[in-house]
Amino acid sequence: MRLILEGNGASRGMALGRARLEQPSRFLVDETPLEQAEVDAEVQRIDEALATARGELKALRDKLEGPLAREVAEFIDAHSLILEDPVFIHGLHELIRTGRYHASAALKMQRESLVAVFEAMDDPYLRSRREDIEHVIGRVQGALSRESSVEERKIASRVGEILVSDTVAPSELVPLAEHGVLGFVLTAGSTLSHSAILARSLRLPMVVGSHDALSHLQDGDLLLIDGDEGRIIVHPTAQDLAGYRHWQREVVQQDKRRARLRDADTRTRDGVPVQLYANAEMSGDVAQARAYGAAGIGLYRTEFLFLQRKDAPGEEEQFLAYRDLVLGMGGLPVTIRTLDLGADKVDSAGLVLQDEPNPALGVRGVRLSLRTPQLMHTQLRAILRTTSYGPVRILVPMVSATEEMITVRRMVTECAMQLRSEGHPIADSFEIGAMIEVPAAAIALPSMIRKLDFVSIGTNDLVQYTLAVDRNNNELGALYDPLHPAVLRLLAHIIAVCKRARRPVTLCGEIAGDVHFTAMLIALGLTEFSMHPGLLLEVREAVNAIDAEAVRKVAPVLLRASGRESIRKVVERMRAQSRPIVENTDLVSIPP
Ligand code: PEP
Ligand code: MG
Repeated sequence: MRLILEGNGASRGMALGRARLEQPSRFLVDETPLEQAEVDAEVQRIDEALATARGELKALRDKLEGPLAREVAEFIDAHSLILEDPVFIHGLHELIRTGRYHASAALKMQRESLVAVFEAMDDPYLRSRREDIEHVIGRVQGALSRESSVEERKIASRVGEILVSDTVAPSELVPLAEHGVLGFVLTAGSTLSHSAILARSLRLPMVVGSHDALSHLQDGDLLLIDGDEGRIIVHPTAQDLAGYRHWQREVVQQDKRRARLRDADTRTRDGVPVQLYANAEMSGDVAQARAYGAAGIGLYRTEFLFLQRKDAPGEEEQFLAYRDLVLGMGGLPVTIRTLDLGADKVDSAGLVLQDEPNPALGVRGVRLSLRTPQLMHTQLRAILRTTSYGPVRILVPMVSATEEMITVRRMVTECAMQLRSEGHPIADSFEIGAMIEVPAAAIALPSMIRKLDFVSIGTNDLVQYTLAVDRNNNELGALYDPLHPAVLRLLAHIIAVCKRARRPVTLCGEIAGDVHFTAMLIALGLTEFSMHPGLLLEVREAVNAIDAEAVRKVAPVLLRASGRESIRKVVERMRAQSRPIVENTDLVSIPP
């Protein structure tokens, strides 16, 4: 019978396929106590299973190629580290030797105690790292159970399947996609997880947080998943399937239409030029940015270089990563953001303060960099060294006071002098800008702007701090509202201040890539957007359909509106005023 399960959309698109259930609890756990005489053999079994799991990871790593290889390799290395951890291995041996547990039960106990430690953590990023433990232990359990049963998780038969699981490891995503998995339904996980980010890059639909999925579904159930709506239809009806076919036709049409936009100018229907930049955090994003005609990189999040490793990258390593980015963009401008660790992006190198009572309001972004000047120097030197390879701008996150920018500028000058005296070829001058994402910086922008060469609006954080709504807390749902009148007024204010002071202003939060907001942002005067590169063509198409003059006339109505409903109506009206310049009659002939 048809059933609908709800979750959160983590990667867009639809997929129709057979359910394939993967649950750690599916592995047989032998709870009976061991005889003393069996202990040594059981220790040997667990050691062999650990070795098999390590071997599998190594084989996976050796096979990696393509644009995402480096990132996936990092995840695999993190998992390999857990498998080699002496404390982890010793704990298993102890449970078998002293507790007389079978290997499978010892693994289950280790999993439960480690997961409990992670779940007790306040920090959402660290909590999401419990997934790593689940994946690693699931792999060892798999190796143990394969000893006795025939290979049950044969990857070769994945064609046409939708994986239903508690979580999926980033390292598993690429091989699963290569073997025909069409999409993912996860009972846990968050839209911010690395798996979700990778699924988006791979264009595989993913629904996370569908708590009931494993208990309601069976292997082989036909599923229609919708990564936009965060919905799973089990046993879809003929009408659902017709809706799916309609969606497929639309995608084909859209792709054809958008393919023509790759090299097109981005202009509104009435000719206002708009710049679309790409956000990047992985090397693959650069290739996509180039392929879809980005005007440059509007935001490079350097903290991804610092995650999943034991020590911070040194100057040379950072320099090479930034230089490759600049070279990859072939002369287009690149905006490199200094480290924004803290709160939701905790490193494992120990740079972020532990036990902060309120990390989102704590030592994050530029505050962390200024507390650890050596770290900032290293990063600034690495960035400045790339300025002889192409146009590079320096962007500073989480700025709340002008003094922070004055200090950063002084540090940039010091580093530049040092580098010149060491004979490094660097540019003569540098553009330094601030992320405006803290309400204080937005409100005080008229006095701060003189210290800024450019501005980048970080709406992901600006919304969270303006509305006092944690951006990672799914429970607060609709309260996280980029259309709140307070947010709209701040946006209008920031854009107006920048225009008056003749400073370029880009918006690089998630709403920059969401076409529901494009007309509204153009109405507020924005002409520079930075987004995930996969969204560039969609936004370009939306921009081309907008009449800037017409929507700008409606802006005062938008800023006067107070209720959620009336604001939505005005935004919808702006969207409705947009229509494509040319109807492509040749594209509507695709058979139904
Ligand atoms: C933002 O806050 O809008 C932003 C782009 O930065 P991040 O998501 O990395 O905090
Ligand atoms: Mg931010």
